[in-house]
Amino acid sequence: MKLLIATRNQGKVKELAEMMANLGVEWLSLSDVNIDFDVDETGSTFVENATLKAEAYARASGMITLADDSGLEVAALGGAPGIYTARYGSAGMSHEERFQFLLQNLVDVPPEKRRAQFRAVIVVADPEGQVLTTSEGICPGAIALAPRGTNGFGYDPIFLPDGQNGRTMAELQPEEKHLISHRGRAIAKLAPRLAELLSLTQS
Ligand code: IMP
Repeated sequence: MKLLIATRNQGKVKELAEMMANLGVEWLSLSDVNIDFDVDETGSTFVENATLKAEAYARASGMITLADDSGLEVAALGGAPGIYTARYGSAGMSHEERFQFLLQNLVDVPPEKRRAQFRAVIVVADPEGQVLTTSEGICPGAIALAPRGTNGFGYDPIFLPDGQNGRTMAELQPEEKHLISHRGRAIAKLAPRLAELLSLTQS
């Protein structure tokens, strides 16, 4: 059975497919099914934005579709950048410029007040665009004083996940990150539900 992951990022497809390898399904990306339109993320929450993407791409492809939305919530910034994490700072900034901008905004904030969490929401929709299931994962931690590490992507070099002996997310091996990450946790909850849904769909 073929399922669609609503992204053009092959890294994300690989990561999600690895984490759900036991389902025995074939995962396709938007590029694989020649879908080239973008869905405006006009929602005010991660759930709303993931739902908009899952519904639109499921209807366009006629396939069961999984869409995710994720971001970083910093307590000292009142939960920002949140749903705006990908756009934090100004247009055209690199990932590194964005996390440096975040560090700059926290320059006077002491370590004990630098609590933050990554949040990921995954929504699965059927080919008619009806939501089948939704899953959320949170990875609690803090914002480091300076970046460290080269693994992962995005804000990983400045995020200190709880329970990892002061290592940043970018200093963890991919398998270590999958076990504790917001996306890993959302998928751990989603996978058994998806297995059940697929067995119902196939019977
Ligand atoms: P999106 O869900 O792909 O739109 O990502 C939202 C934003 O959150 C992007 O700027 C990512 O860099 C950031 N982000 C999401 N997950 C992670 C992660 O696991 N590590 C670092 N940054 C992340």
